[in-house]
Amino acid sequence: MPGLFLDSDDVCLYVTEKCNSNCIMCPMSLDTRKRGEGIAEDQWEALPDRIPAEAKHLTITGGEPFLDYEHVIPFMEEVNERFQFEEILVLTNGRILAHPEVREQLANAVTDRYCFAIPIHASDPKLHDAITQSPGSFSQAVQGIRFLSETNARIEVRIVAHRMNVEILNKVFENLSASGLRIDIINLVAMEMTGCAARNRAKLWVNYKDVALAAEEGVSAAIRHGINVGLYNFPICSLPEKLWPLARNSITPYKVRYGEECQACLMRSACGGMFYSTFELGLNPVYPFLR
Ligand code: SF4
Repeated sequence: MPGLFLDSDDVCLYVTEKCNSNCIMCPMSLDTRKRGEGIAEDQWEALPDRIPAEAKHLTITGGEPFLDYEHVIPFMEEVNERFQFEEILVLTNGRILAHPEVREQLANAVTDRYCFAIPIHASDPKLHDAITQSPGSFSQAVQGIRFLSETNARIEVRIVAHRMNVEILNKVFENLSASGLRIDIINLVAMEMTGCAARNRAKLWVNYKDVALAAEEGVSAAIRHGINVGLYNFPICSLPEKLWPLARNSITPYKVRYGEECQACLMRSACGGMFYSTFELGLNPVYPFLR
């Protein structure tokens, strides 16, 4: 359920279950998105008082958090004044940032402590919009990135990989790198197999190893362009050796699982494991590194 969540140095503002896109690989279920719970009107005012003074990281997420921009932007302004977060990560599909009224308000709230993570799933609008099942979403997300490039925020693009885009992953990386957009980070994201992703798995599933191989050249192209590339949610044994340094331990700890075979693996301590959902569905084989 949406609300403010505290975990040691990390604070998460989960704004709403609603989303204005309908991505085919969304880890949230359609029922949850339709239910559309959000932070109640009378709770917003007290939220900043619950944040510990020493908190270092804030994540603002949804659903799509800017569906409630009338509360989110004042919240951002207040935390900017009251807290010294090292980083504020905003997970958004970027579409609402195409609206002049939202941009105008947001421009005053964004500082260099912010990083906006916006998904781009294809190199052309047609496929991106087919994946989000939302006409116009590619163009709006790109407009959002253009707007953010005029601010001090860092800009991250996330590409969630699956069967619908696996064959064009190199092209997506290459087009983003050469787009002229200010993109600081590109993270290639392995799917979490819950919600719509699990429901559509016959249409979507590709082994993490095949995803990594399909994206290898594009990853190199982005790095040559000076973009910081990361690989989210990939077990180390699904990656070619030259991509190992890009693997991030990105899975929320309570969702991480390792197979029986992993117990003997020499890379166990360096490996971020895989999602419990992928593990329980038995979808992705592991290849332990043995002595
Ligand atoms: S075998 Fe298990 S611990 Fe080893 S790299 Fe693969 S997933 Fe990670």
